[in-house]
Amino acid sequence: MDFLFTDEQNLIRDTYRDFAAKELKPDYVRWMDENCSFAPDDLMEKLAAIGTMGLTIPEEYGGSGLGSIETCIVMEELATASVSVAMCAGISQAFGARPILENGNETQKREYLPRIASGELKWSLALTEPAGGTDILGAIRTTADKNGDHYVVNGSKQWISGAHVADYLTTVVITDREVKRKNGLSILIIDAKSPGITIRPIKKLGMHACGTNEIFFDNVKVPVENLVGVENAGWYQLLMTLNPERIGTSVFSLGIAQAAFNYALNYAQERQAFGKTIGSFQILQHYLADIAIEIESARNLIYKCAWLCDTGQRFDVEASMAKIVACRASELAARHGMEILGGYGYAMEFDIQRHFRDYKQMQFSPISDEMAKNYIAQSFGLPRSF
Ligand SMILES: Cc1cc2nc3c(=O)[nH]c(=O)nc-3n(C[C@H](O)[C@H](O)[C@H](O)COP(=O)(O)OP(=O)(O)OC[C@H]3O[C@@H](n4cnc5c(N)ncnc54)[C@H](O)[C@@H]3O)c2cc1C
Repeated sequence: MDFLFTDEQNLIRDTYRDFAAKELKPDYVRWMDENCSFAPDDLMEKLAAIGTMGLTIPEEYGGSGLGSIETCIVMEELATASVSVAMCAGISQAFGARPILENGNETQKREYLPRIASGELKWSLALTEPAGGTDILGAIRTTADKNGDHYVVNGSKQWISGAHVADYLTTVVITDREVKRKNGLSILIIDAKSPGITIRPIKKLGMHACGTNEIFFDNVKVPVENLVGVENAGWYQLLMTLNPERIGTSVFSLGIAQAAFNYALNYAQERQAFGKTIGSFQILQHYLADIAIEIESARNLIYKCAWLCDTGQRFDVEASMAKIVACRASELAARHGMEILGGYGYAMEFDIQRHFRDYKQMQFSPISDEMAKNYIAQSFGLPRSF
């Protein structure tokens, strides 16, 4: 086993560490949290200029053709500085480029991938519906009826990250009402500015600089050539997108955990009580040690998943485990971090409160911890509990 990064991977890490130090200073990150619903355009342009939007897109379509390990390295550096920015930077690749790469046709690849890689196009995944996200097969109601050279889409979607700035929506719709749901879903690329689409922001607790929305489709016309892959095979195609996304979410939680740890450690080394720094009290040392243990466990499992993915092995169960372990690390780091700061942890001007608000989103999205555990349990051969 080799736990060392290659020279190229070290270079990528250093490049993004330097980028974060220069472009994602704490005051700016705080300003985005208070004022932005998405990373500002000039920041997105700077990220695109160093290749961030095309990390995993093959070189022939304008990307860098890198793997999951390199993507984790980039996203870990960005998420440690600002998890919202990391999500803004990753969303179009995960939800626009990946489904097209996995199942799109050559025309779609040539049309969209270079423009995602350059940062010209932004994208969202419109899967979850108001009736539920966990039991999506039971909850989905949005329909697409074929009418000549187009589909007519009606319905609504809930919790769609980045839709308010997106150019396109990877949208999961019912195309056959007569069969079991999983055999009647399709994936459509929908122009987010199409007539009949209304997008409304949802106010949320954290992750402010990567806003979330509800979307309404009222007789939206979508050209048939915007079907991704095979009609009615959308459910199976979607699974290819969601497993890698679990690694991505894990890295976001890891970034939150590392940021909260760094903040709390720094505070513990400076704050004085009883004539000593509070970092000399054993209980606070144990808090920090406990966080560090969780962070290291999460990092190891995440990079193992990335390696499994890059080497073409199955990683669905490990990705569900990584998602949970990383969430736990971020929860512990945010909670103990606040405790280490004492009363100041509760003040909005200290960043630890942002980590406390941000980590919570990762527990439900893209799948809840409870559901992730269901999948893990099923992998032991236990009966399906849902
Ligand atoms: C901020 C945010 C951003 C999001 N971004 C996107 C996005 O970009 N695109 C998108 O499509 N979706 C997005 N989502 C949706 C997200 O994937 C769903 O919230 C998630 O799947 C959970 O669905 P739900 O919120 O409807 O909860 P529900 O499905 O109603 O679940 C409620 C509770 O019941 C539990 N539960 C349900 N079924 C079971 C079971 N069988 N066993 C045990 N427990 C169970 C759940 O774990 C949860 O605790 C986002 C959500 C949030 C909060």
